[in-house]
Amino acid sequence: MNLDDIFELENKHILKYYRKKNLCIVKGYMQYVWDIHGVKYLDCNTCYGAAFLGHRNDKIVNAIIEQLNKITLVPMTFYNDTRAMFIKKLRRLLPSKFTGIVIQNSGTEAVEVALKIARKFTRKRKFLAFINSFHGRTFGSLSITGNERYRKPFEPLLPEVIFAKFNVVHELNKLINEDLAAVIVEPIQGEGGINVATIEFMKELRKLTEEKGVLLILDEIQTGCGRTGYVWAFQHYGIEPDIFVIGKAIGGGLPIGITIVKNELQNVFTPGDHGSTFGGNPFVLAAASAACDVIIEDKVPEQVRLKSRKLLKEVEDLVSRSKTALRLKGMGFMIGIELRQNADDYVNKLLQEKVIALTAGINVLRLLPPYVITNNDIEHLVNSLAKILEVKS
Ligand code: PLP
Repeated sequence: MNLDDIFELENKHILKYYRKKNLCIVKGYMQYVWDIHGVKYLDCNTCYGAAFLGHRNDKIVNAIIEQLNKITLVPMTFYNDTRAMFIKKLRRLLPSKFTGIVIQNSGTEAVEVALKIARKFTRKRKFLAFINSFHGRTFGSLSITGNERYRKPFEPLLPEVIFAKFNVVHELNKLINEDLAAVIVEPIQGEGGINVATIEFMKELRKLTEEKGVLLILDEIQTGCGRTGYVWAFQHYGIEPDIFVIGKAIGGGLPIGITIVKNELQNVFTPGDHGSTFGGNPFVLAAASAACDVIIEDKVPEQVRLKSRKLLKEVEDLVSRSKTALRLKGMGFMIGIELRQNADDYVNKLLQEKVIALTAGINVLRLLPPYVITNNDIEHLVNSLAKILEVKS
């Protein structure tokens, strides 16, 4: 199919919920993607972070092919060996108190499940979320997403959601009370601008929710699987939530979302409380199993810590000498560069340098590289950023 036909078909038939770039990506391998003309790009978008373990990572592809030759769909009413193996492998990545999981097909569904569990377990209705948070696009997740632009056109949403200021510790005490079912928070707000929660803020959230009998839900959909330098971002803070949701990278390139609960919540659901046609299918779980192997065998968090130290140091230096960049934000391979202007223009400029990035909010340029990037890739990325950020020498 030629490029004009591709543009026309997508533009004409897909509803306009994304602003499109004139680039047609047809192939990917590890940290690179190729366009229809065979031009190679360094992928620091990784499909909103989901391809963090690389495109077509060999270990994951082999597992997918093996499963494809066995069976792809098994109803949750029956048992399956690949599903059981996935549980075994995922548990190696989880602190011991997290014994329960619900497997879904996307991040937003995993968030929905977390909200349902919180409601059913506590028998309370209210949720506390944060300004600039992002938890997904379905009605429940949207209701706790702290961005008016996303919520407004679809109101009325869930009532009784309170939005607090992120990282403002002294306000938490009066907002967290016994009426809440749960507090939900991203350890690093991704979509909202790469805002890293402070240790004091997270510790206070944990302390107050525990004191008031409120569940603490962490959204690790973007931060999880090693992206921040630990398997889970909450490990930076020395706290553990009651529930956390993961997605994106754990699917190894296939769609997934998982709600993970501590053992006290293990029996919250009874048959009929939840369900999903595709959730828990062995095709995706073969990929997710292999993704767990990759995280452990390739020491992904350690690699991120090591490589990001170099990258962040060099970007910090660029930012300090740039006319357009205000500051560097983030942790590990979840990086934001706050700009004076609209960040989308800088995404376009980076495309000219054969680097694919994305935005976070209006004026933050977001980089979500995969753990496999090399020193050469880092050099290419830093040189490209130096060009577009108008760096003084
Ligand atoms: N929560 C966070 C923190 C996310 O970054 C995202 C996606 O960007 C979601 C939830 C929603 O995940 P999904 O797009 O898989 O539904």
